[in-house]
Amino acid sequence: MSLQHSGILLVVSGPSGVGKGTLIAGVRRRHPEVRLSVSCTTRPPRPGEQEGVDYFFVSAEEFDRLCAQGCLLEWAEVYPGLRYGTPRKPVEEALARGEDIVLEIDDQGAHSVRRVMGERAVLVFVAPPSFAELRRRLADRNTESDEQLQARLITARQEISHLDDYDHVIVNDQIEPATAELEAVLVAARSAQRAGRWQALRDRLLAEADALLRPSAEVASSG
Ligand code: 5GP
Repeated sequence: MSLQHSGILLVVSGPSGVGKGTLIAGVRRRHPEVRLSVSCTTRPPRPGEQEGVDYFFVSAEEFDRLCAQGCLLEWAEVYPGLRYGTPRKPVEEALARGEDIVLEIDDQGAHSVRRVMGERAVLVFVAPPSFAELRRRLADRNTESDEQLQARLITARQEISHLDDYDHVIVNDQIEPATAELEAVLVAARSAQRAGRWQALRDRLLAEADALLRPSAEVASSG
């Protein structure tokens, strides 16, 4: 019999450009067993992005079909005309196998996951040390036009206004300590009492205790 409990669903959210991906990659280097959910998006690939690794790049029609067929655990129109969604099956399968899985999704998606998965999901918000620094990081990334950059900053402001709804907030000022904080959340979540995660272990230990203690109880009662 295994000691395995059900897996952790770690939802990492926060403004675009805040460094969520970097922190998640850092945690996964230390915990390679943690899986990463690959989202579907209607956004076109950026140079260097790989199909099935960074995203599944799909047409608007394909995205409609995935929604209609219930294949997405959550989805959101993160920017006008651009939809992103989490494929349901890999998440459910990982959790059922007792594997931990990380979702890097926007604030709307994090709220949807909370609605669907309840307390089972651990919600982490990654915040920038300042709004000016967030703007600088996004601009340095050089992947968006001025107009897109502005749209991302407006969305960022909206996301920051929901920071209270999260279980944990990590300020990504410096990568190393922020990565260590995300790792600490994962490690703490593994031992946390959430949604009956430890029931199977409790039941097994009690059954073992009963089996082990029975002979002495019988001796005591016959004595
Ligand atoms: P980007 O276009 O920079 O790759 O991602 C833009 C935003 O979309 C990020 O803030 C990211 O968290 C969010 N995002 C990526 N995948 C998903 C997803 O599956 N669902 C939701 N709701 N948001 C996502």
